[in-house]
Amino acid sequence: MPTKTPPVPLRSTSKNADSASPTKVGFVSLGCPKNLVDSEVMMGMLAQAGAQMVSGAEDADVIVVNTCSFIASAQQESVNTILEMAKHKSDGRARKLVVAGCLVERFRNEIQQSIPEVDAVVGTGELQAILAATGVAPAATSNSLFNILQSRPEGDARAAQGRFSRETWDGAIADLPNYLYDDATPRLLATPGHTAYIKIAEGCDHPCSFCIIPQLRGKFRSRRFESVIAEAERLARSGVREITLIGQDTTCYGEDFGLRDGLALLLEKLAGIDELRWVRFLYAYPNKITSRLLETIAAHDKICSYIDVPLQHASPGVLKRMKRGGGADIFLRSLEKARRTIPGVTLRTSFIVGFPGETEQEFEELCQFVRDSEFDWMGAFGYSDQEGAGAFSEEKKLSEREIESRRRHLMQIQRKISKRKKKALVGEEFDLVLEGTSEETDLLLEGRTAMHAPEIDGKVFVNDVPEGVEPKTGEFYRCQVTEAHDYDLVARIV
Ligand code: SF4
Repeated sequence: MPTKTPPVPLRSTSKNADSASPTKVGFVSLGCPKNLVDSEVMMGMLAQAGAQMVSGAEDADVIVVNTCSFIASAQQESVNTILEMAKHKSDGRARKLVVAGCLVERFRNEIQQSIPEVDAVVGTGELQAILAATGVAPAATSNSLFNILQSRPEGDARAAQGRFSRETWDGAIADLPNYLYDDATPRLLATPGHTAYIKIAEGCDHPCSFCIIPQLRGKFRSRRFESVIAEAERLARSGVREITLIGQDTTCYGEDFGLRDGLALLLEKLAGIDELRWVRFLYAYPNKITSRLLETIAAHDKICSYIDVPLQHASPGVLKRMKRGGGADIFLRSLEKARRTIPGVTLRTSFIVGFPGETEQEFEELCQFVRDSEFDWMGAFGYSDQEGAGAFSEEKKLSEREIESRRRHLMQIQRKISKRKKKALVGEEFDLVLEGTSEETDLLLEGRTAMHAPEIDGKVFVNDVPEGVEPKTGEFYRCQVTEAHDYDLVARIV
């Protein structure tokens, strides 16, 4: 999706290979918002070094593909995109192809050996190397702009148990990624002007047995409190009205500095920035949602009453094998507490279906939990085997067909819940940020309410604007819901 890159012709500010005609760089950013922030940081460094960012791959001298390696389908999409972009070297203008991101951490050697068109690779822990890899400038050697990273006893203990081991991965460099950008790091936003992500932490110390993110992204580490606030203030001054804090587990924020309830403190401080309208965070770890966090969300209008807590499963047996713990009863109690503390809270979760050995009984426990918990939004992924994850060596793997059939079944249960919940919103009024003309038809506008995280949840189509109102993208309007579908809403501006 090269269109992610903003079509901003940047002025050359420093020496380049040819300062009269700056190197044109096209970026394709795949995967999650955390990867998008990495892309924005790399684009910022390139722009500062004098490169010109272009939105079409056909216009680029250098193409960078920032890849995702989350599950098999994401890896496949990354490889397909690299191959697609490689054609611009043989048939088009491009003279360099650089591959960055999670796929590099996982398959560094394979990428270089099997795709000769790839000129250089840049892992998640060496973003500064994008300058040398693209030929725009020598790589920055100073680390002074970046956080002083702390060590966390939990991560150190897990490291001793082999949690972060990448020894069996061909070509993985010995050191785990340790990079984390700072408020002083240049960054070029690829999101619409009114909304931005801020990565507040990187890496993960949890031991989930289906996940290789800790090996790809390193141990958990937080950005300094003041650095996050400084970045948020700067973004707000530049016109951003919605900030989404991201990290593998934002609810652990600050633990490596010895901060308790760091996320709640951060949200409280961000709620004091006048220009901001909405602040939200993704993602919460189930047993890290504290009373203080819930009360903080409830106490501030600017903090969206929205919690995304990926539960992964609800059967205690499966959760134990996933090395996560918890179960339906505990989860239902925490959801009840969240709903009691934050009236009207929007709850989102995601599940992994078909984990090795998941029995029909365990799957039914999950289905029943989905019926009982009535999440506003839910995603379901089929289990995907990852070499290097603890579950890789588990026996009793389910067939792909069975996994997909269970996944569909779960989504059907949720579809009915979603339909009922969306119908109950008809007639209600909400604030809505307008996001422009609908991607589906020019006849409708599209927007989001506080119940909708950027690019994740359903849509709100706007089909009626009062006379005399000139709707503007990025502006907030009061709207009334007039129609509801399974996941999407239709509203009119009032
Ligand atoms: S919490 Fe678990 S699933 Fe999420 S990134 Fe960490 S190890 Fe992976």
